[in-house]
Amino acid sequence: MDAAGQGQYGAAAGAIDDCGSCNLKLRTGSWKLTSTLSFQFLVSSFRLYDRAVTAIEQLDVLLAEITDLRYAISLVGWDERVNLPPGGVATRGAMLATLRSIEHAKFTADRLGRLIEQATAEAATLDADDPARRKIAVVARDFGKATRVPGAFVAAHAEAVSAAHQAWREAREASDFSRFASHLERIVDLKREYAGFFKAGEHPYDALLDDFEPAATTADVQQMFDALRHRQVALLKNAAGRHHADDSFLRAPYAEQEMLGFAIEVITKLGFDWHRGRQDKSTHPFAVGISTGDVRITTRFVEHHPFELLFSMLHETGHALYEQGIDARWNRTPLAGGASLGVHESQSRLWENVIGRSRPFWVHFYPQLQRRFAAQLGHISLDQFYRAINKVEPSLIRVEADEVTYNLHVMLRVEMEIGMMNGAIAIAEVEACWNDRMRDYLGVMPSDAAHGVLQDMHWSVGLFGYFATYTIGNLLSVQLWRTFQAEHPSWERDLSAGEFAGLRDWLRERLHRHGKAYQPKELVARITGKGLDPEPYLTYLEQKYS
Ligand code: ZN
Repeated sequence: MDAAGQGQYGAAAGAIDDCGSCNLKLRTGSWKLTSTLSFQFLVSSFRLYDRAVTAIEQLDVLLAEITDLRYAISLVGWDERVNLPPGGVATRGAMLATLRSIEHAKFTADRLGRLIEQATAEAATLDADDPARRKIAVVARDFGKATRVPGAFVAAHAEAVSAAHQAWREAREASDFSRFASHLERIVDLKREYAGFFKAGEHPYDALLDDFEPAATTADVQQMFDALRHRQVALLKNAAGRHHADDSFLRAPYAEQEMLGFAIEVITKLGFDWHRGRQDKSTHPFAVGISTGDVRITTRFVEHHPFELLFSMLHETGHALYEQGIDARWNRTPLAGGASLGVHESQSRLWENVIGRSRPFWVHFYPQLQRRFAAQLGHISLDQFYRAINKVEPSLIRVEADEVTYNLHVMLRVEMEIGMMNGAIAIAEVEACWNDRMRDYLGVMPSDAAHGVLQDMHWSVGLFGYFATYTIGNLLSVQLWRTFQAEHPSWERDLSAGEFAGLRDWLRERLHRHGKAYQPKELVARITGKGLDPEPYLTYLEQKYS
């Protein structure tokens, strides 16, 4: 999943406020346009309102409408990236902005705040694990965050990132950081202001992390990287010096349709449910859940990098299995979705890397791949193929990084964000600081800013606090996998035989079905018996690569 899904202003971006009466206007307004099916739905919705006597029931009705709007936003966003002809771009932007502002107005309305208060009181006698109580707690938290940020700030931020993103594109094109620097400075100032809207944590960066990884703190993240830093750098030096696998056959010409056909066979076997999902092409691969019954993934084919199609489909399928595995009872509630970006990423990394780059996986699939691509792979052994897809090579670009180097790219960015937030790194020093860290951690120096500090768009669109979720996902993917292995001693035999239902169902039962009902820390502790732990990941890397 990419940057879509969670915004940095609580549940969804937008600016206007609401009197609380536009519910009915909206309903009657859309009445004229609806088909018979939607008409029946509207009638049943009104009946629901009539029947909703307790605050908990009224809250459910209102949340269902808000979630419907969020589904619509996701669907329109998906369409924008998959189907939209260029001529529709301008009106599509306006359409999305309108939908977002309606959603935001409904979600920050006083009426919702009152219902949350009343429902909280009603639910006080319920068991702590009761679904109603879980739902109210999640909504209260999101509502609290969304209503703390003034509309004027949201507007100023939107304006700043719009200019910054444009400047970043030009700066990257010209490979000139100085053209982006003043915009970055403005964004960092806004991030400090944003942090000020929330209860002062230990560190202003806490507020930014919390938007993507609820309850994660700067101290947690620093501790995580302290545990990784030395061992990952040492492992890279060791592994890069020893693994000179020939992987040229991975870049031979492969037919797109054949590669897609193979990838579809693989994800079907992993359990992607085609009755509740689809797969399309887009410029950048992504996954989106529009209820548990409609989960969409995309991929792309790059001729000089043909296997990217397969591995990115495995990645997005990991996200999709999570969304398809959420208990359908959470549909049309704010609990329909992954617990956090980090937990979501643990699922994509698990299927893409831990499973998809493992030997047992390819014991099963390699003969099929060889049959499809006899000319390219007929003479390549399973061992050669396995080494090639796991080649370790320090590179300048994060999105091309292998398992050993990925966290180092992330660590560098997170350290710099924290440094910018607390003033330890001046904006004028950002590029030099980036280059120094690339040299220290990865042993490579960017030749220019485009391949260095300007490579990612995240900062230009105001995504601060986001990067750490990639590393949280990596760590958690292995922590979950080790827990599964301990409970399933036959795992290697099962994977080699193409038997993936055991793992998928285990994840569904322990993790997926809960949706957002538990915060990441609680969820991880419930499943693995402890907090997020870097040790399993480090041991996994050391065993696999040294
Ligand atoms: Zn992802």
